Parts: sequence; C-alpha cells; structure tokens
Amino acid sequence: MNSNREDFFTFVGQTSDESLALEIVGGKGAKLFGPDGTTYLDFISGICVSNLGHGDPDILQAIEQQNLRYLHPIVYGEGVFSPQVQYAKKLVASLDESLDNVYYTNSGSEAIEAAMKIAKKYTGRRKLVACHNAYHGSTQGALSLSGDPRAKAGYGPLLPDIVHVTYNDFDDLAQITEDTAAFFVEPIQGAGGVILPEKGYLQRVRARCTETNTLLVLDEIQTGFGRTGSLFAHQALGIVPDMLILAKALGGGLPLGAVITAKKVLSCIQRDPPLGHISTFGGHPLSCAAGMALFDKLQHSTILSELPAKAQFLCANLKHPVIKELRGMGMLYGVIFNSQAFAYKVLKKLLEKGVISIGFLSEPNGLRISPPLNISHEELKWGIDRFLEAIEEVS
Ligand code: PLP
Repeated sequence: MNSNREDFFTFVGQTSDESLALEIVGGKGAKLFGPDGTTYLDFISGICVSNLGHGDPDILQAIEQQNLRYLHPIVYGEGVFSPQVQYAKKLVASLDESLDNVYYTNSGSEAIEAAMKIAKKYTGRRKLVACHNAYHGSTQGALSLSGDPRAKAGYGPLLPDIVHVTYNDFDDLAQITEDTAAFFVEPIQGAGGVILPEKGYLQRVRARCTETNTLLVLDEIQTGFGRTGSLFAHQALGIVPDMLILAKALGGGLPLGAVITAKKVLSCIQRDPPLGHISTFGGHPLSCAAGMALFDKLQHSTILSELPAKAQFLCANLKHPVIKELRGMGMLYGVIFNSQAFAYKVLKKLLEKGVISIGFLSEPNGLRISPPLNISHEELKWGIDRFLEAIEEVS
C-alpha cells in the first residue's frame, strides 16, 4: 500500500515542485504531530490562520454545537443563521462606527473580488490602485491587484485599469486620483516579507483617499485577529479604512472571508442588478460559529495583553550576525537572510529540529515567524533557540 505521502504526490494537485509535504495527524496548542510520533512546534499558524493554535476547546465546542444544529440550510443572503448574524454584530461592535455592515465570503481572495466589484459599482469609477510587492490573492481579479510580476507570468490578460504604486512612497500616492475607485493596501505587507508602514504613511494614504473620494480598502487578511498585537492592525496604526477585508483567522480554522464597510456602500450590490455578488457557501454557519469562538476568546482573555512581552522577548533574543533583518510586530515576523539558498537551508534544518517555518511569496531571502498568539513563553524560547541553532549549523 502506498503511503499518504506517496498518494499526496500522485493524486493531489501540487502548487510547486518544492512542497514541504508535511504529514500531520493531530495538533494541540502550538504543537502539531506527525504520523511517526514527531512533534513540531508550529511557528506559522498555517500562515496566520490558527491564531489560537490547534484543538482550542472553545472553538471545538462551538463547531460541535453548530454541527448538531444544521450545516447549510440555504444559500448565503436568503437565510437567517444565528452564528452569521451574531458574529457580524460582534465584528461591527469592535470597529469604528463607519464600518457597520458585513458581507461574508468563503476566502480572502473572494472577499477581495467582492471589494473590487463593490468599489467600482459604488463610485462609478473603473481605475484601481494597489502596491508593488502586494499580495491580495490568486483569483484573476485579486492577482491583477497583486504587485509581484513573477506571480502573473503566463496568466494574462488580467484586469485593465490597475495602477501600482510603491508601498511607503509618499509621492507615489499622487497616482490616486479623482478617477480612482479604490486603493487596495495591506497595512503591513505580509507576503512581501513583513514590510511595516513608515511613520505617517498610512495617515497620508488615508488623507489622499479622502481628498480624491477614493475608497481606502485595507487588506487585513493576514494582520487581523490579534496578529500584530491589537485586534486589527489599523486600530494601532491609527487609521480607519472605508472597507476592511478579513479572512484567514476570521473562521477560527475554517474557511471564511468578509468585506466590512458602510451599509450605504455595500448595498450597491443589492439592486440594478439585484444579486450583484452571491455565494453558495459564503458565511457558512460552521465557520461563523468557529470564528466567533476565536474572536470572543481574543477579546475576553489575556492573550493580547500578554503579546507585547512575547514580542519583546522574540526581538531581543532572535539575534545572529547572519540575520540581515528581523522585521515585524506582535507575532508577525520576517527573518531576512542574505540569500534564498541560505534561507532554504535554515528552513530544512528547522524542520529536522521540529520547528515549522515557511518562506514568503515575494521575499525569497526570508522565513516567516507567526506562531499561535497563545504560544507559551517556554515554547517561544524553545523555537527561538532552535532557530539560532539551525542558523549556526548551516552557516
Ligand atoms: N490577502 C492577503 C494579505 C493574504 O495574505 C492572502 C493569503 O495569503 C490573501 C489576500 C488571499 O486569501 P485566501 O488565500 O484566503 O484567498
């Protein structure tokens, strides 16, 4: 009989020739378990999804309870499901009062697609602006916004009327003009290698969008749900977007995406024509129940208040002469080396030592650190020690 690993390569569609092919049979907290008894420390949270680690009892209980009630009674938009409604109410209550309406999708890319359509329909404009080095998803529209030309090779023609500006370049914001429907931006560029905004950049972005009546669409798919230390990154960075895009941790480990904006903006898809954006599974009750359990716990536990000390510990201890740069905040970091080959060697060595990291889509020389937010101090220290050991051994 073939192993799961062999069957994975035979029967499951692959996304690259260099899959980590990590076989996982279980997980608890910040630990993941392999079939041969190997224990891994999860240093990436499935890329910012499992913000409370694995097997969180409150999330599991919420899923079990919802599972016993119903799964999919009717297409999104036509049914009143308590988890969907109550989660939307809680999300809105945690945000600026201008963000008062939630549109659910299945994924981040799909939420970006919805936001692109809403922005065009609401403003009556067709030009969109996004950033070089940005990642907003893999579907045709989201890929058109993405700022890495290598990711687009072979997939054209993509969408027209999209202009790219350089993230953190204040002057380039002049390209946001009176004919721009929306500016799509990540508050911190995630797949680009955890690039932080320069002081005043996001404020200037906000001001330019307001001047030109352009919708500011903030992609917090990666930075949301406590990842950067506050519930949502924009709250600490001091700006309010016109549309907030969420996914990843939003579903507590299950697929879920959302566009949150003002009702007057969102309602443009309701008519002329009606059903302007629809989805069979968007806002699945099971995903909403799981996500709401995660959100409740983030809001009502000490996890976020304990994060600054963990962040400080990580920054103070993850130091080595071959680390060119350690960028990030909260529990979202890029460890940048001098070459892609070196980063890859460290990644492989880390896996041998039982620590899961991964590279970035658009920063070849970097590795990610984004552990579950509730990782214990001992686990964090253990992971950092293994990181330093791995670097030392491949140097
Ligand atoms: N936007 C950002 C910032 C992301 O990090 C991602 C996924 O990594 C996406 C959009 C796309 O989300 P999804 O993979 O759920 O389609």
